[in-house]
Amino acid sequence: MTSVADELRTTYSSGRIRPLAWRKHQLEQMVKMLEENESEFLDALAVDLGKPRVEGFITDIAFVTSEVKSMIKNLKKWNKPERVSTPIIAMPGKSRLAPEPVGVVLVIAPWNYPIHLLLVPVAGAIAAGNAVVMKPSEVTVTISALLATLVPKYLDSSAIALVEGGVAETTDLLEQHFDHIFYTGNGTVGRVVMAAAVKNLTPVTLELGGKSPVIVDASANLRVAARRVAWGKWLNAGQTCIAPDYVMVDASVRDGFVDELGKAITEFFGSEPKESESYGRIVSPHHFARVSALMEGGTAAIGGETDSSERYIAPTVLLDVDPSSQIMKEEIFGPLLPIIDIASTDEAIDHINANPHPLALYVFTGEKRVAADVVNRTTAGGVTVNGTIMHFSNPNLPFGGIGESGMGGYHGKSGVRLFQHLKPILTRSTKMDPSIAYPPYTERKAKIFRKVL
Ligand code: NAD
Repeated sequence: MTSVADELRTTYSSGRIRPLAWRKHQLEQMVKMLEENESEFLDALAVDLGKPRVEGFITDIAFVTSEVKSMIKNLKKWNKPERVSTPIIAMPGKSRLAPEPVGVVLVIAPWNYPIHLLLVPVAGAIAAGNAVVMKPSEVTVTISALLATLVPKYLDSSAIALVEGGVAETTDLLEQHFDHIFYTGNGTVGRVVMAAAVKNLTPVTLELGGKSPVIVDASANLRVAARRVAWGKWLNAGQTCIAPDYVMVDASVRDGFVDELGKAITEFFGSEPKESESYGRIVSPHHFARVSALMEGGTAAIGGETDSSERYIAPTVLLDVDPSSQIMKEEIFGPLLPIIDIASTDEAIDHINANPHPLALYVFTGEKRVAADVVNRTTAGGVTVNGTIMHFSNPNLPFGGIGESGMGGYHGKSGVRLFQHLKPILTRSTKMDPSIAYPPYTERKAKIFRKVL
């Protein structure tokens, strides 16, 4: 039986999808799919993740359409060969870097932003000129089923395919020959993906997770810091790869910061967050049980309530956290926020450097020197100073991790380049053919080479 990768390769090899006009049409169709079915998508997000409609619109619809529209606008520019200079040794000649598609791409997505994390890389692969197989997460079943119905209606099925399923189906896909695999999810499966890619020497992009720390320095504006941490943490009920995982706060301002966090929670979600239309739910009973159990690691100063019948976990702030507890070992990926007292930013920097490189790092401070110190002495996938999440929203800042948090970055132009080979081409003129470069190698030629090389 022909595999889906082989079927798409036949289309790719025909050259039919190479023209920019085809790519542009597919990208326009993707925008159309999202805009015409916005309500169905928001309903599906509400079923799978209890996602508030406005939040769903911003994170899973508007962000995607804005990325795709920018790709449409820049399609010609980003696919144009780049002229580069030519050294004297290669003269007379002209040099350029020609972006060319890699072939057939596989995109495997997770459940937490199930439309966004699937379609943004898919759009990048299309804009780059590739055929694509996309595999949504089976955890968000309603979204997966909706996408499976809509994608073939809007996009060219002979070059853009959607495969639904879980471990078995993904394992089957990973046995096929792709030219690039883009995976978003946890590091354990990231390793499975990378091991499978070895067989065909397929390049991989791994968008993984981990514990993203926040540092709050004594000079920070506590009200702003608390509001921005609260927003980043409780967006999607904490199920965001770059959500603040835990906060290291200068002990002298700890109480003031926690107080401001409490105010921010009430301001955002009211005194009963369970009733709030702006607060989401945990994706599945399995994830609900895992996150609830992590609560044991500390004492709930704010929140702490759970309701398994709704998969609800309150926005929770934990104090007196045991450093050896499970909550300080694994990525929380839920609405629990441990607060750790620190004596200095040096202590926080040492803690970060003693652990795997985080996907995101946040530092709140009123002093530029402190921000520079934290940024220069640590390694992280990306950083927002005096904020959370927002570096993700700038398409000119490639988004991705390093080490345990992943490899490769995307968004904007980098999200198209990722799926291309920049082919170096040197075109030489035949008008001149100086014999200096050819044997016999005389002393005179050697002297000239010594001068010009
Ligand atoms: P998930 O369970 O939906 O898994 C991700 C994908 O891997 C799914 O499509 C799933 O079908 C597939 N998969 C699962 N097990 C597999 C196996 N054994 N073999 C092959 N494929 C398999 O999502 P998840 O991993 O729970 O997602 C949460 C993790 O993803 C967190 O660690 C989070 O930080 C990370 N994440 C990272 C980013 C990022 O952009 N860096 C974004 C979102 C989530």
